[in-house]
Amino acid sequence: MRGVYWAQMPRFASLNFFGHERPLPSWYWTGETRMACLRDAIKGSLTNAYAHHIQRLMVTGNFALLAGVHPDEVDQWYLGIYIDALEWVEITNTRGMSQFADGGIVGTKPYVSSGAYLNKMGHHCGSCYYKVSERTGERACPFNSLYWHFLARNRARLEAPDARPGLMARMAMPFRIWDGMASHAREELLTKGEELLKRIEEL
Ligand code: SF4
Repeated sequence: MRGVYWAQMPRFASLNFFGHERPLPSWYWTGETRMACLRDAIKGSLTNAYAHHIQRLMVTGNFALLAGVHPDEVDQWYLGIYIDALEWVEITNTRGMSQFADGGIVGTKPYVSSGAYLNKMGHHCGSCYYKVSERTGERACPFNSLYWHFLARNRARLEAPDARPGLMARMAMPFRIWDGMASHAREELLTKGEELLKRIEEL
């Protein structure tokens, strides 16, 4: 990470591969969300100035990437709240590994997941307001539709001929699953994702 920092800065600090523009939801500064995994990771981070790597990468970072938050805002949050956030290690992990805003200088693919992975890796789903097993219902886990919404809206970038070598191969499986879904199921997921993004402050 230190090598990437010295080789790539200051250009690295303005990379935004997906062109994300959304502001960071205000509940990142309070932890007041009904999503139990995010609430715990954010409140713990704000209290302790520390979070486990998986919480940073697959909970707070995952959600910010799925939601299309501007990487500047994600960087400012990580840099501001973590005790170990020196810029050379923070920006490479956040903008590179977590947000894939560097297009694959650090990581080999975007680290995104639906709720199933979070359920496997953590213990919050059982007590969450949202249902991890549901994709489009009223109380469906937001990670589920946002995961597919992210992949669908960024497909052209992820499959572009000039993308990082090997990226298309690494993304082939989720796109195969997406292509194999019935068209009404894909529509429902996209509609649900849109709806969640419109009321992201209320999640
Ligand atoms: S159901 Fe979804 S939002 Fe709730 S804890 Fe599980 S992964 Fe997080």
